[in-house]
Amino acid sequence: MGRDDMRIVADRMVSTAGDTSDDAKADATTEAVGDPVEALRHDASGDLAAMDKKFLWHPFTHMKGWLDADPVIIDRAEGVYLYDTEGKRYLDAVSSVWANVHGHGHPMIDRAVREQLEKAAHTTLLGLSNPPAIRLARRLAEITPPGLSRVFYAGDGASAVEAALKMSFQYWRNKGGTYEKKKRFMSFTNGYHGDTLGAVSVGGIGLFHGIYKDLLRASIRLPYPYCYRCHLNLEYPDCRLRCADELEPVFERNQGEVAAVIMEPKVQGAAGMVVAPDGFTRRIRDLCTRYEVLLIADEVATGFGRTGKMFACDWEGVSPDIMCLGKGISGGYMALAATLATEEVFQAFLGDPWYEKTFFHGHTYAGNQLACAAGLAGLEVFSKENVLDALPGKAEILADALDGLKAMPHVGDVRRAGLMAGVELVADKGSKEPFDGSAGVGAKAALAMRKRGVFMRPLGDVLVLVLPLVIKEEEIRLAVNVVMGSVEEVTT
Ligand SMILES: *Cc1c(COP(=O)(O)O)cnc(C)c1O
Repeated sequence: MGRDDMRIVADRMVSTAGDTSDDAKADATTEAVGDPVEALRHDASGDLAAMDKKFLWHPFTHMKGWLDADPVIIDRAEGVYLYDTEGKRYLDAVSSVWANVHGHGHPMIDRAVREQLEKAAHTTLLGLSNPPAIRLARRLAEITPPGLSRVFYAGDGASAVEAALKMSFQYWRNKGGTYEKKKRFMSFTNGYHGDTLGAVSVGGIGLFHGIYKDLLRASIRLPYPYCYRCHLNLEYPDCRLRCADELEPVFERNQGEVAAVIMEPKVQGAAGMVVAPDGFTRRIRDLCTRYEVLLIADEVATGFGRTGKMFACDWEGVSPDIMCLGKGISGGYMALAATLATEEVFQAFLGDPWYEKTFFHGHTYAGNQLACAAGLAGLEVFSKENVLDALPGKAEILADALDGLKAMPHVGDVRRAGLMAGVELVADKGSKEPFDGSAGVGAKAALAMRKRGVFMRPLGDVLVLVLPLVIKEEEIRLAVNVVMGSVEEVTT
């Protein structure tokens, strides 16, 4: 950017300020000419909250409500804490929406990104390769469940899911013969796989997905076990996973036309941290094998230690045919995602003529050098700091702290896997009757938590904790105490 351009930028920024004095305007312009980058950082127009409300449209946000409130603007972050522009500190109890893994500003990841920046920020994987993308692919193939050997990079979780869906569809086309009839997907009730249209087609959350129904290709919907409100009215473990037994006829009936089933193994995150009973994911794997259906494991939320093991599939020794990774893959530093496939899937794309079997799919920033460098460093932290070894102890502390919530009159269910937990608030504990949605109890609890210095984003009336893996015992207890105090405040 040339100096004149900078001045225009600075002028524009000043002109949005509204209440800035002419002197301040002059200062900003002079500063911009002096050091353009500095000028952008200390924009004299000042009122960020006003500019936010004027220019930003926030994701998954009821903007009318947003415009009526004062935004918290995060200026910096360190470890498990976020600091706003007024210097107020918040514990990041949802890991910046399930992305951050080892804390903010981890020295090893910071260094890796800085060093990478000295070399190249981004070069394409279309027709070229780059060292961090290659090395990270090898590491991912090593640490993911056996069989997954090929890494296809995407830009974010939703695009990793799109790639998985198209890949599984084309896999059967490439195999040919009667397999070409396998064109449909099976997905789970209350599933969430991202917000692009393919991902929404296999999504099952009415509030998010219902409105787009006419744009979608219907998938065959399977019930995901939600033990607190079991659709078969049974109780684990006496149920012996009848919910899984009941799926067999659906597989049998549809096998000829189903390409893949997509599932969130062990935990349905966006559904409200719904934890499937032990053995359920294994049962789905077995059904997929028996009925020649590919299993796509969406571990965008559960990957990278979140559930207490590196991947949720590891709990039941499940190897999917395709696995989607996102969120924590870059340590929570940058947009990065990947779709992993088995060699069997990959080989089906190799035949002649080359163009017919090629996977015509890609995203511009796939394999971004900076993001892959961050991802590699994040995996390095896992081994150098023995992160996984510390998780059972931390999960135990969280479980113990959460126990204190169970007796509260409006806490219906407390569920947890590793350092992910959901606390479902209900109007009536006996009948499990939910609160009226319009009462916004979950949102009110979140606000009460924020006032107590903990940032938490609820899912409806389910309060969510997705704690950064670096979190310490006293911070876990603090987070849960704040949940307790806030629930008490908003339900009495
Ligand atoms: C967040 C999420 C996605 C979508 O990831 P984005 O990076 O937001 O596109 C997909 N699947 C699951 C299970 C998720 O939790």
